Amino acid sequence: MNLENTNIRNLRNFSGGPGALPENVLRQVQESIHTVPDAGLSILGISHRSKWFADVIAEAEHNVLSLLGLNDDYHVLFLQGGATQQFSTIAMSLMGTAPGLPEYLLTGYWSGKSVTDAKHIGPIKTLWSGESEQYARLPNDDELSFSPEAPYLHYISNETVEGIQFQRILGLESVPRICDMSSDFLSRPCEANRFSMIYAHAQKNLGPAGVTIVVMRKDLVARCKDDLPEFLDYRSHIKAGSIFNTPPVFAIYVVLLITRWLKNDIGGLVNMNAINEAKAALLYQAIDNSASFYLGRSAKHDRSLMNVAFNLDTPELEKRFLEESSAAGFSGLNGHRAIGGLRASLYNGVTQHAVEDLVEFMAHFQQQNQQ
Ligand SMILES: *Cc1c(COP(=O)(O)O)cnc(C)c1O
Repeated sequence: MNLENTNIRNLRNFSGGPGALPENVLRQVQESIHTVPDAGLSILGISHRSKWFADVIAEAEHNVLSLLGLNDDYHVLFLQGGATQQFSTIAMSLMGTAPGLPEYLLTGYWSGKSVTDAKHIGPIKTLWSGESEQYARLPNDDELSFSPEAPYLHYISNETVEGIQFQRILGLESVPRICDMSSDFLSRPCEANRFSMIYAHAQKNLGPAGVTIVVMRKDLVARCKDDLPEFLDYRSHIKAGSIFNTPPVFAIYVVLLITRWLKNDIGGLVNMNAINEAKAALLYQAIDNSASFYLGRSAKHDRSLMNVAFNLDTPELEKRFLEESSAAGFSGLNGHRAIGGLRASLYNGVTQHAVEDLVEFMAHFQQQNQQ
């Protein structure tokens, strides 16, 4: 890597989102702000109706499908409104399309938002809630009983705030599975063909804020209600090829660069997962070997590879950790404002080297601050 002009804080960015992006993608983005090589224009001034942008959309769609191992039974859409917009759009589109109630898992902060929004649209069934246990763990199979009558099952694969992640697929094969993968999309293989819909905004693993990727199986599109405002109807965006109205050209271009990086530099999701597993193992090991100086927040078997949430003994010590880590060039290590504490997010763009630096800093901090 060319370290000239490299900003150490970019390399040591553990932010929960928007997350770190790979150095070599940042370089291409930097160049594109002035001129995109094959367009001869600034990325900020290219029409979404241009042939160049049609090619960007086509390649990005193709890359997402090929990384996920999907065929053309699926549409890939680039939408706006964040993952949050999907919480209500899904409910509006599919509630009432089967005799039973939609089923939701309440496993943390973000699924709480999805449940709240769905309830604004109509009744749902919350199959399981981790609220009374502070969302420190995920449900076991014997705590879940799915109904074949549900129009869909909705859950979140990785709870970004609490740092817990499913290592299996839930639900019945006969009921459409809808999964918010905002914080672990394209971080590992996910048997995508067993989902009817996967959605993920870009700003954790895939690029800047402004675009949300929706991967939707065609038979689910056919079930969607057709009396919604056009903007909220998935069919409008499918028909228009994701340019129903002005899309975030810049954000979509960066997503394209990330998918190229995943394919060409990393070599696909199996390799990406191996890298992510090694990074997480290193950090969890440091926490587990700290003689309870660092306290992991979540149940060991449900630990997230993407978001490592942990605590120190007192809020004062956590504050000192944040100050000193920041002085050492680290950023984004504060926990989500909903729960406080500390969190290191290990998205695809965070390198093994950065995690090694963090672990070294943590050992040093422990030495200086242990009673
Ligand atoms: C961050 C996050 C969201 C919120 O997404 P917005 O794009 O800000 O609406 C939703 N779901 C999950 C799992 C998240 O991590």
